[in-house]
Amino acid sequence: MIYKRSSALFKEAQKYIPGGVNSPVRAFNAVGGEPIYVKEAKGAYLYDEDGNKLIDYIASWGPMILGHAYQPVVDAVIEKTKKGTSYGIPTEIETQIAKLAVEMVPGIDKIRFVNSGTEACMSAVRLARGFTGKDKIIKFAGCYHGHSDSFLIQAGSGAVTFGAPNSPGVTKGTAKDTLLANYNDLAGVKKLIEANQGEIACIIIEPVPGNMGCIIPKEGFLEGLRELCHQHSILLIFDEVMTGFRLAKGGVQELLDVQADIVTFGKVVGGGLPVGAFAAREEIMNHLAPEGPVYQAGTLSGNPLAMAAGLAMLQSLNENNEVFKSLADKTKYLHEGIAKVLTAHEIPHSINRLGSMVSVHFNEDPVVDFDSAAKANNETFKKYFHGMLKRGVYLPPSAFESYFLNDALSYADLDFTIQALNDLAPELKN
Ligand SMILES: *Cc1c(COP(=O)(O)O)cnc(C)c1O
Repeated sequence: MIYKRSSALFKEAQKYIPGGVNSPVRAFNAVGGEPIYVKEAKGAYLYDEDGNKLIDYIASWGPMILGHAYQPVVDAVIEKTKKGTSYGIPTEIETQIAKLAVEMVPGIDKIRFVNSGTEACMSAVRLARGFTGKDKIIKFAGCYHGHSDSFLIQAGSGAVTFGAPNSPGVTKGTAKDTLLANYNDLAGVKKLIEANQGEIACIIIEPVPGNMGCIIPKEGFLEGLRELCHQHSILLIFDEVMTGFRLAKGGVQELLDVQADIVTFGKVVGGGLPVGAFAAREEIMNHLAPEGPVYQAGTLSGNPLAMAAGLAMLQSLNENNEVFKSLADKTKYLHEGIAKVLTAHEIPHSINRLGSMVSVHFNEDPVVDFDSAAKANNETFKKYFHGMLKRGVYLPPSAFESYFLNDALSYADLDFTIQALNDLAPELKN
């Protein structure tokens, strides 16, 4: 493959944009080499500036669950654009998408829309603190909740990849209110709570993490957190920015039947436009301004363009519940195909999958938390990533990221991917 134009564009970008990118993982630092520049995308495929066609397994990190340039979303956005893209005044479509989201997701009465997953998680924690009158929060090593200060403590993917789990610029004062636990370690969480009796406002967690690769919750782990939160008057926040409207219509809460107190959304909920949201039962949401004292606002929050994209996406998913099964089937097929090739070539691996999320760790021990994810062989991952890219398959450019399948992928695309790995596998051995 030729990357001449991408390479030139990256050089030019680096002159004017820090590192040439507007979000660090795009720069390929974790895998080496230079990023490709996308010219356009349709369905399951990316087309880069050098004319290469690639099968896309990141789907803009999740939002493009029904494929790129999905017609109902494209049409909705075009129609709205003609009528003006933002007024800063209420519009009917905000209530339409709120009502639909509340119907799709278990246990929520009200929802507020923001512009990113970061904003959603930051606001959810403020709301939890305001509601409980307590300051401290518990998060899990390797879980990512956006780039706001309280979360940049062992924050998974981007932050880990760049070796700065505690980013400069986050004050000690902020860091001391964020307590760290290990994913899948309920006893550890119990100890933290006991050592900080009466001080913890909330536990925030990716219920199925995707930011240290995909990790599966052990049986009883999420249920145990639910119980601990009940016992200690702590709010449980599920960060479903990745999993919401992806693993099921009602996200992990529906799929695994565990109810959180506050849920955050992003990615799919915006259909590819910048949207985030947080939601809870009425008692909690009524603490938000203007109804309650906890302040939260946004000039472009709920703008008609973003809401039109999000509504068209949620409607499509709501009317087509089989899509979640279709995605899970495709992901299982890919998982089994990859596993078969790696096993045949005696390449140590461990693959985690749930629904349409899957990740390949080059380590034969089970990957259950951040430490075990970090033990995987990153040199093999780099060769794997570049080898697949060369063969026309775009995987996440970091071992700490999940793949996000989209329903435009055909079984022929999956077979192509598995065959590409089969060609590449001998190179991965040494
Ligand atoms: C992507 C992500 C975020 C941050 O969302 P942005 O829209 O990038 O700010 C938060 N939490 C999780 C679980 C995510 O995957």
